[in-house]
Amino acid sequence: MEKLKYERPIINKLQAGMPDKFGMNIGVKVISNIDGIPVSEIIDTYGSPTFVLSEQTIRDTFQEANEAFTTRYPKVQFAWSYKTNYLNAVCKIYHDEGSWAEVVSGFEYDKAIGNGVKGSNIIFNGPDKSDKDLEKAIENDSFIHIDHFDELYSLIKITSKSNKKAKVAIRVNMDTGIYPQWDRFGFNYENGDAWKVLNKIMLADHLELVGLHTHIGTYILTPNAYGVAASKLSELAVRVYRKFNHIVSYIDMGGGFASDNTLKGAYLPGKDTCPSFDDYAESITNALINSEIPPENLPTLILETGRALIDDAGYLVGTVLANKRLVSSRRATIIDIGINLLFTSFWYEHEIYPVKQVSEQTEDTTIYGPLCMNIDVVRSAVKFPLLQKGDHVIIPRVGAYNMTQWMQFITLRPNIVLIDTDKKMHIIREKETNETFNTQERLPKHLS
Ligand SMILES: *Cc1c(COP(=O)(O)O)cnc(C)c1O
Repeated sequence: MEKLKYERPIINKLQAGMPDKFGMNIGVKVISNIDGIPVSEIIDTYGSPTFVLSEQTIRDTFQEANEAFTTRYPKVQFAWSYKTNYLNAVCKIYHDEGSWAEVVSGFEYDKAIGNGVKGSNIIFNGPDKSDKDLEKAIENDSFIHIDHFDELYSLIKITSKSNKKAKVAIRVNMDTGIYPQWDRFGFNYENGDAWKVLNKIMLADHLELVGLHTHIGTYILTPNAYGVAASKLSELAVRVYRKFNHIVSYIDMGGGFASDNTLKGAYLPGKDTCPSFDDYAESITNALINSEIPPENLPTLILETGRALIDDAGYLVGTVLANKRLVSSRRATIIDIGINLLFTSFWYEHEIYPVKQVSEQTEDTTIYGPLCMNIDVVRSAVKFPLLQKGDHVIIPRVGAYNMTQWMQFITLRPNIVLIDTDKKMHIIREKETNETFNTQERLPKHLS
């Protein structure tokens, strides 16, 4: 081991009270590579910072989730939630594993078609579907999940002109014991709106009711809530069958399974508190199998899992820019990864690690990003060793939402690299350049 740099001694305040269940913090964990490729090599090749995705982890996690459901229920279909990560390469991996596409905008719909997904394998969710979007989805036999009565009436108007039937489902919101309740999407179960819209659909000449859908929230830590939701949707399916002798062909339970990230304010790490795919599967499939739906009519179970499938496959690798002492004497470390790339740092305590062995001594540190903006805090308090300017860091579990919700503020978005299952690296999205932005801008004549 090479000789370590001298560090001045630190006096740490003794925190009174109990250590957590893992005892006191000892040692500094290091993550030196991703799927066997050294982080330093990734940064040397693609720059700093860089987003990295592991194809192996994507596929392994998908297969684990799929198995949890298919071992418990006869008809299971996953649909990849595009908004969680809609890089074409990522979507293609899920489609290759057998996933359909779940989209929430016209933009995402076109992306799915562009990725070669058959129209009849696309689920179209969300409150904003233009008449043009709806016409396209009807033409392609996609599943349209109706969000509000205005959308229902648009569909009735559009289909009355074309004579082609639209395949529709409704999104249902309900009390599952999770509060605050997500009631802004779809039709409420308890107040009767869901039943009301089902009756209207059944009476509409050109609408074919194919499914029932819910998405009860995100990062849901109680599998039982899904059981409650699945029971309520089953009950609606039974009522439709009794009144109209019509079989609903699928029940779509949406997404929302938690990933292993740790929520801000949580006492225990996410890894210890997040239910497994088996836990969710057990709750959902029991509710369906134990419902009043006759076995020969059991619907296909659709899952739109996003976060829990991809979070673990994503990493951010970056570099220390500087260290500082704040006026309060607190140590601050500034890195080149900010909230522009790490939107999820608003609700997660993201883990951050050095990529090579450094000092064993840690100090309560605030990790700042590079933005000239006070809220650019990656971690407000983390026991961290002293890294030097130029040292690399890695932030694991960033695969969900960061590559779609990132913002272009005062700097450019970096390369995204995929490590394939043969451990080869591929750029799957080029870093932006000034050119990227200049092609979009126009100067009025009097200013040019
Ligand atoms: C966002 C979303 C998902 C995916 O949610 P996760 O929490 O990432 O699993 C699935 N379905 C719908 C309708 C969504 O809006």
